[in-house]
Amino acid sequence: MQNRVDINRATAADRGALRLNYSKLRLLILEAGDHILKFCHDVNIPVASHEAKYDNRVAKDIAAGVYNCIIIDGAYSNAGYDRILESVSNQPPFIPIIVIDGSLHYLRKGASESIASQDLSARRLETALFNADRLCKLNNRTAHLETELSAFIEEDPLTALPGRSKFRIKMAKAIEKAHSTKTTVSLIVLDLDSFKGLNESRGHDFGDEILKTVAKRLFRFAPDNAIVGRLGDDEFALLVSDDTFTGPSHSTVAVRLSHEIHKPYIVDGQKTEVSATIGIATLDDHDTPDGLLHKSISALYAAKRDKTRFMVYTQEDDIERRQQLRLAQDLPEAITSDQLRLHYQPIVRMSDQKVVGVEALVRWQHPKQGLLFPDRFIPLAESSGSIEGLTKWVLKASVEQGSRWLAKGERFSVSVNISALILHNPSFPDMVARMLNKTGFPAELLKLEITESAIISDVSRATDVVTRLHEMGVRVSIDDFGTGYTSLAYLRKLPVDEIKIDKSFVLNMRTIADDEVIVRTLLELAKNLGLSVVAEGVEDIETWHMLADLGCDVAQGYYMSRPIDVAAFDTWIKTQPWIQDLK
Ligand code: C2E
Ligand code: CA
Ligand code: CA
Repeated sequence: MQNRVDINRATAADRGALRLNYSKLRLLILEAGDHILKFCHDVNIPVASHEAKYDNRVAKDIAAGVYNCIIIDGAYSNAGYDRILESVSNQPPFIPIIVIDGSLHYLRKGASESIASQDLSARRLETALFNADRLCKLNNRTAHLETELSAFIEEDPLTALPGRSKFRIKMAKAIEKAHSTKTTVSLIVLDLDSFKGLNESRGHDFGDEILKTVAKRLFRFAPDNAIVGRLGDDEFALLVSDDTFTGPSHSTVAVRLSHEIHKPYIVDGQKTEVSATIGIATLDDHDTPDGLLHKSISALYAAKRDKTRFMVYTQEDDIERRQQLRLAQDLPEAITSDQLRLHYQPIVRMSDQKVVGVEALVRWQHPKQGLLFPDRFIPLAESSGSIEGLTKWVLKASVEQGSRWLAKGERFSVSVNISALILHNPSFPDMVARMLNKTGFPAELLKLEITESAIISDVSRATDVVTRLHEMGVRVSIDDFGTGYTSLAYLRKLPVDEIKIDKSFVLNMRTIADDEVIVRTLLELAKNLGLSVVAEGVEDIETWHMLADLGCDVAQGYYMSRPIDVAAFDTWIKTQPWIQDLK
């Protein structure tokens, strides 16, 4: 554009008197009629080319700024002009295109100005150029800003890592290189667990700090030639060349990475833990960048489903992922159209074998897939936003059933599982209060089971919510106790009534000495804190006796009964077949 005439030098006031330096004007005039050529000759405008066909060379010249202006003779209706107009007017640098005697057609296609042929004069051309040039400058400026902006967007401003699109571009280049050098790369995708809940409960500034730290840790973790990116909210990716795995296997790298992410985070003096799930896939001969991404995400989903820290891609993961997505989509309707069922499992006091409670456990009677167990859909409900509706449904159904039993003179507590996302919602206690009010079910018979990790992921919120529930008279139980990292200091602060020793310890305590020691220790700890203890996973009479000897209060497990529907439960409670052996 170096030889471009600065038409803009003129102000609006002296535009009338504007004198262009015509010798600097380099026009591209294509197949122009005589009247235009004559005009150019008269005012001494050098016409670069007046017969040029629109070909690659002309296109290159236009792009290189050889011409200041394109004049099109509107009298010719050559389809080639449309192509010029499109290519010149659609992308920067924009230059004025003036049609002489032009129809609206050219203006619509992107010409900047038109002049009627009888009006063609130096003055008229100057004004047209002035206007057109101003427009083009504006467009060029906007285009420049847009490129700057998109470069900015491509870099995620929070973590300074490449964003999704930039990562894909970088990944595509690396993959092309890998294909051509017959080497291979692996893509590791990583998703933070329960990050949404953390963000909602602790605020976005807190969440942002965690994300920044995760990004830094990933960056430090990544080998020199790796590409690190942020794919979405709490999703990160790492493309590594396969020599990363020549020593360590994929699993070793995944374990190390998840260990790195799991180290404590200190934000504003508060300590938090975050875990991540990882999916890994290795490029094979036919993989496109999107194909590889798809494979690692499938592995990630499979890992989430199996609740393992990581998974390396296999073909089955793909099928599984599609099924999972479909289930997640079906879930909201399942909740409203009564496809959910509750099964109840008795909870028995050891001293007198009396049924003191039931735990409500949800199932999904899927129209096509049959009865689904909670492990298949609770994680989906949590990640797809259906957990709130599901919990409401379970609470309502449990409290109603509890009321029916109570009306028949069967007084026992009903336990409901509450996921972390719900526990951190400050309006949750109100929801419980409304439910109790409506049914008249006594608050002290409702027990909410929350996990250690739900508390630890946001101690202050959890404390608030649990305290309010406690004030209403609702009981709170710590589920899966022993599996998390809760220090007892946290528990002391909470008005908790009971702990449930996780079944993984109870199941094997007869045979594995370590497990027996853990159960014993947990029982002692709970006693010191004045909490009552439920042992879940009691499958046989030997375990029952061991627990009774250790002073455990309450037991739950297949030995007494599996979770069963209301009808089966009502029969069971009348006959109590399990007690016979104890006598
Ligand atoms: P959980 O809260 O630990 O529930 C106990 C699970 O252990 C139940 O599995 C139960 O069937 C099983 N179990 C009980 N006794 C024994 C035993 O003696 N041996 C063995 N091997 N297992 C036993 P289920 O019903 O499949 O539930 C799995 C998990 O799903 C529950 O674990 C709970 O975390 C979740 N869940 C169930 N219902 C709900 C719900 O309504 N809301 C939420 N948020 N989670 C739920
Ligand atoms: Ca439970
Ligand atoms: Ca449990």
